[in-house]
Amino acid sequence: MNIHEHQAKAVLAQFGVPVPKGFAAFTPAEAKAAAEKLPGPVFVVKSQIHAGGRGKGKFEGLGPDAKGGVRVVKSVAEVESNAAEMLGRVLVTHQTGPKGKQVNRLYIEEGAAIAKEFYLSLLVDRETSKVSVVSSTEGGMDIEDVAHATPEKIHTFSIDPATGVWPTHARALAKSLGLTGGLAKEAASLLSQLYEAFLAKDMAMLEINPLIVTADDHLRVLDAKLSFDGNALFRHPDIVALRDASEEDEKEIKASEYGLAYIALDGEIGCMVNGAGLAMATMDIIKLYGAEPANFLDVGGGATKEKVTAAFKIITADPAVKGILVNIFGGIMRCDIIAEGVIAAVKEVGLQVPLVVRLEGTNVDQGKKIISESGLNVIAANDLSDGAEKIVAAVKGAR
Ligand code: GDP
Ligand code: MN
Repeated sequence: MNIHEHQAKAVLAQFGVPVPKGFAAFTPAEAKAAAEKLPGPVFVVKSQIHAGGRGKGKFEGLGPDAKGGVRVVKSVAEVESNAAEMLGRVLVTHQTGPKGKQVNRLYIEEGAAIAKEFYLSLLVDRETSKVSVVSSTEGGMDIEDVAHATPEKIHTFSIDPATGVWPTHARALAKSLGLTGGLAKEAASLLSQLYEAFLAKDMAMLEINPLIVTADDHLRVLDAKLSFDGNALFRHPDIVALRDASEEDEKEIKASEYGLAYIALDGEIGCMVNGAGLAMATMDIIKLYGAEPANFLDVGGGATKEKVTAAFKIITADPAVKGILVNIFGGIMRCDIIAEGVIAAVKEVGLQVPLVVRLEGTNVDQGKKIISESGLNVIAANDLSDGAEKIVAAVKGAR
């Protein structure tokens, strides 16, 4: 789960991380009021969308020479006029894709005088089961570009959760950024604060780009991006409360309400499967037969008829879906429950596209009987590859 920059900064500030002062604003009037609470004379008006590259982004309908999604301005009046221009407008950055994202909120921040810009991130390294710290003197740029053009400018070390942050880690960070004296000390405490926040909130990634040295020689976090481990969200209601549904895929939100593991993809074949492994295999075999899956969907082991109905509705609501493959292995899950759920859903929402059902396992005969007696136009499949072949053929044939 991702949150907005201003929320990320508020979370980090709880751990003592130095961030500039600022306020979120949803209207030009709120933006003006926010600026009036800041010292000035320099303010930054920042688009809040779940995507980076805002500074270099372009607003739709403003022309190529207009200012981007992060604007440094010099008066309260300019904060208000820029807010009016930005709010409600679609911002296209290299991370939003060509469709862009509508800016519905801004962050009005006190301006900082920048002496240097760095990059700093923490992330879970699954291979070593440690927390990796990545730093670079090339801040404010895309880290992928830096990694490509000048890999020697990226430094990495890892922190073992069993022992935590050691003075040697702090020294490694300061050295990688060329910091000495008071700034090295600030880097050391920043590292401890970030690491503590990272663990306490079960983050998957914490990225600061840029971390700056101010003109008066202090470290400040100028941009922050946090993403949280979805499996740990149950123990962080404060983080869940920061969710901005307008930034997420509607179908994924609906799925999470029903406890379904659903990821929207770009293909044309909707999949309803139980078990993550079988879901992956189903996606692979669809590709093998020459089509692309429209989603990953695991209804889980203990799915009810209601859950299956909800899953089916989510799949059929996607206009990109040209065919549906239901592939269920009834272990804990019974095939007759799946069959009833599918039929209930089809009766409720109708069936505009071909549907292939492959059932195997507990109560499989009952399940097949329910489907064949339903009178619905369902194509039965015997096994996984038969099912994939049939749905791909049905979709290609329908074109
Ligand atoms: P991003 O483009 O989405 O990564 O947004 P950032 O928050 O990183 O802002 C983009 C750039 O705007 C930064 O790299 C800075 O160079 C610049 N910027 C942001 N805040 C300030 C500020 O307070 N003062 C100045 N001078 N520049 C800023
Ligand atoms: Mn940035």
